[in-house]
Amino acid sequence: MRVIKKISEAQVLAQRIREEGKTIGLVPTMGYLHEGHLSLIRQARKDCQQVFISIFVNPTQFGPAEDYKSYPRDFLRDKRLAEKEGVDIIFAPSPGEMYPAPFHTFVEVEKLSEPLCGRSRPGHFRGVATVVAKLFNIIRPHIAYFGQKDAQQAIIIKRMVHDLDMDVEIEVLPIVREKDGLALSSRNQHLNEAERRAAPILYKSLQEAERMIKLGERQSRNIIRRMEEMIKGENLAKIDYLAIVDGEALKERERVEGKVFIALAVRIGKTRLIDNLMLEI
Ligand code: AMP
Repeated sequence: MRVIKKISEAQVLAQRIREEGKTIGLVPTMGYLHEGHLSLIRQARKDCQQVFISIFVNPTQFGPAEDYKSYPRDFLRDKRLAEKEGVDIIFAPSPGEMYPAPFHTFVEVEKLSEPLCGRSRPGHFRGVATVVAKLFNIIRPHIAYFGQKDAQQAIIIKRMVHDLDMDVEIEVLPIVREKDGLALSSRNQHLNEAERRAAPILYKSLQEAERMIKLGERQSRNIIRRMEEMIKGENLAKIDYLAIVDGEALKERERVEGKVFIALAVRIGKTRLIDNLMLEI
């Protein structure tokens, strides 16, 4: 396994791999790898002859009051895990390598970046789309792998790839969860014991929504009200947003019909967690 920090070196290597006629899979990450990331890496390993992962805590997707500085990092641990999964190349640039001054170009995916996480994190998806576009330009993967955990992100990336004619296939894989339902996230690291016990409330409320829908409930507001009740019953939890939207345009839906997407962000103590459920009725 090779670790590359320079853009020019990654470009030369990726180009050589392409010329050899080999397929390249890319798994973009911010590191502090867990089973969610590993599920993407394993799929890339199955599909592609050469697997790149990127490890880069991307400053442009964090707001000024957000956790860029305290985001968990452990490169040696990540390296060990990646090696065990058969990753071929880790691309781990510095912020200065990715954003040398002056830097003036950003990718903005309109509309889809506005609701849900876009509303509570202005500029977040501009940072995400920009860094992913850069990674695609540097590595030029045949397939790139993303998690359904960040469903809005995956929808935005697919739109960007389509709108800007990027020659890459986007694979979106299911959410990997702990036994009690909590979606794996590098940020779970920040939860203390009591917060960790409270955190499965996100998934429990989604399961309750699913149960109501199975029993025939179609009014979004009734489902949202019930989910809110459950989450408010958890002392350490504070809702950031809770919404039922359509699974493509992300517009709010009064009724649960067709492809819908139930998404929520909840603060457990100081840690903001997200989860979602995609349903086809
Ligand atoms: P991150 O390092 O949090 O930026 O995540 C890197 C990639 O891993 C993104 O495509 C995430 O959606 C995906 N991912 C993160 N957590 C999970 C999870 N619990 N299950 C599946 N994919 C995940």
